[in-house]
Amino acid sequence: MIPYGKQSIDQLDIDAVIDVLQSDWLTQGPKVPEFEQKLCSYTGADRAVAVNSATSALHIACLALGVGNGDIVWTSPNSFVASSNCALYCGASVDFVDIDIDTGNMSIEALTSKLVHAERQNQLPRVLIPVHFAGQSCDMQAINELAQQYGFKVIEDASHAIGGSFDGKKIGSCEYSDICVFSFHPVKIMTSAEGGAALTNNPQLADTMVKLRSHGITNKPEEFSEPSHGAWYYQQNVLGFNYRMTDLHAALGCQQLTKVDRFVQQRNKIAARYDSLFKNSGIQPLLVTNTSRSAYHLYVVKAPLHSPEEHKKLIQNLRKAGIFAHVHYIPIYLQPFYKQLGFSAGYCPSAELYYHQAVTLPLFPALSEEQVQHIVDTLKSLVAKLSV
Ligand SMILES: *Cc1c(COP(=O)(O)O)cnc(C)c1O
Repeated sequence: MIPYGKQSIDQLDIDAVIDVLQSDWLTQGPKVPEFEQKLCSYTGADRAVAVNSATSALHIACLALGVGNGDIVWTSPNSFVASSNCALYCGASVDFVDIDIDTGNMSIEALTSKLVHAERQNQLPRVLIPVHFAGQSCDMQAINELAQQYGFKVIEDASHAIGGSFDGKKIGSCEYSDICVFSFHPVKIMTSAEGGAALTNNPQLADTMVKLRSHGITNKPEEFSEPSHGAWYYQQNVLGFNYRMTDLHAALGCQQLTKVDRFVQQRNKIAARYDSLFKNSGIQPLLVTNTSRSAYHLYVVKAPLHSPEEHKKLIQNLRKAGIFAHVHYIPIYLQPFYKQLGFSAGYCPSAELYYHQAVTLPLFPALSEEQVQHIVDTLKSLVAKLSV
């Protein structure tokens, strides 16, 4: 079976982890700050806070921006559930902005009209979480302008997108956002096994997130609100969590980060091959706009399907043929948990139309030209069979 995604691990990665195992520190040693420093150098952001997952990063990013009871957070329905769960963890409510069916990203048109409406209802969001679907940045310049106009904060969910850029700037630079979050899960562009990071150019937000990742505790005397009891003293001022990254994970992250440009280049090359093989086939790759370089976490096509049954059959037949095709994503609000909150089918029509046609094909650096040709031939013939 050809998987849809797969990590690339070499001897340098293995050695880096073994070195940590033989060192004095398994966690809270020198590797985490080194990884954070390297993430800053790579992206151009001032600060990086490494944590044990992107989900944790999204949670503490929301908290640092003051998300709480009574607040509203908006995100894209075409994402993993973590993009919206983070708002619910904070006691806020969540709402969804429909997508652009060609890119799979949040539609600026839908966002603009939803904001106009929300302002009239006095229901503006505190935070917007755009998701850089499949590795392509949302239109962050437009989002930033709307954020200024309507006074909301922006967290980029860039779980798919390390190594990509928008308008010539690396995703993660936070040029147009308050905080940007990466995931280092093995299926993503680069990995630390489990892991994530929140990047920002705002030192207060970074300091708050550092505290929140470790119980809300500080040992910096300048942050104490009461006098120290002595050399052993630490103080808890807010309610935090144990979201720390270990040095083992950070060492792997440091090594992987040196290869991220190569991974993204290989992914772009494979995507271009797919694109050219699908030309004039009626199978439509996602549109990548000319202001973006996608990191190509996922290679998604829209197949000419006429019913959810055809969709189901197509994915099933691809898997039978040894190709582990997938679908990204079930609109989040169609999950039973979200329906319980009051959402129902029809809420974001483009996200639903897109969902019923979307097919994620295998994409990872080690995928061969022959495998790509085989996948394209198989998909074309299965689609042809559906329409007879
Ligand atoms: C993978 C993913 C996450 C969660 O990442 P973890 O590191 O597994 O917590 C969040 N958002 C999106 C869009 C993702 O793809």
